Amino acid sequence: MDMGIAGKRALVCASSKGLGRGCAEALAAEGVHLVMNARGSEALEEAAAAIRAAHGVEVVTVVADITTEEGRAKVLKVAGAVDILVNNAGGPPPGMWCDWEREDFIKALDANMLTPIALIKALVPGMMERGWGRVVNITSQSVKAPLAVLGLSNSARAGLTGYVAGTSRQVAGKGVIINNLLPGIHDTDRATALDGGVSKAEGITMDEARAKRAATIPAGRYGTAAEFGAACAFLCSTHAGFIVGQNILLDGGAINATL
Ligand code: NAP
Repeated sequence: MDMGIAGKRALVCASSKGLGRGCAEALAAEGVHLVMNARGSEALEEAAAAIRAAHGVEVVTVVADITTEEGRAKVLKVAGAVDILVNNAGGPPPGMWCDWEREDFIKALDANMLTPIALIKALVPGMMERGWGRVVNITSQSVKAPLAVLGLSNSARAGLTGYVAGTSRQVAGKGVIINNLLPGIHDTDRATALDGGVSKAEGITMDEARAKRAATIPAGRYGTAAEFGAACAFLCSTHAGFIVGQNILLDGGAINATL
């Protein structure tokens, strides 16, 4: 299927590795030119070079912490007018509900709620003027079913979800489509870090921790960044114009719910 987005420009935040990179790769495969971002330059340049070589699209890189005002300003200056925005950043650390202080919440809200909102506010007006745009926010399965140790993530992502629910309906009439993708467990560095926590807490090996988690997923395995990226590319495509403000779970069936 032709996604109809060849020649468009996308900003993919936090995209040197993992799910962000999966989205960047899938968009590039559809002929979309990219602005890629991460804090570390080495992996970012390596990813950008691989994508240029594989797909022949233009890829500009911006080394910046997207969760800071300075970082966003740097990224936005380079990005200019983009047609597609993929919001992403690292997730908050795990912990215990009684240990989190105000500062921990402010940090999580800044990273996983206020950063995507700031980028939406900066880039969606231009998309509306041009009559076409796509925004995909990478959130988490924790929006549908809480992960107790990730309370900071549960809280911040629920806030973003509420904002997107209303905003997406206000801008859809101008051709701008905003949706959220909710990853369940995917095979990335983040998953390795989470499995490391389980391995330490339960005194089991990494392989055992991973097998234990995989056994809770009906698909019997972790998701891949490529699968995640393909879903993102579809939501950014011309075919997704009637999918507005949705929360789409990619979790291998892990959340046991009818709706
Ligand atoms: P990952 O493999 O650790 O990759 C994170 C990427 O984001 C890297 O490219 C990293 O590069 C970049 N990054 C992190 N913080 C950044 C920042 N402040 N500014 C700019 N770039 C930043 O993580 P992932 O698994 O792809 O996860 C992506 C998001 O999905 C996270 O919010 C995570 O919580 C959420 N999620 C993941 C899963 C999963 O199973 N993987 C499940 C549910 C939710 P630098 O470190 O160089 O900046």
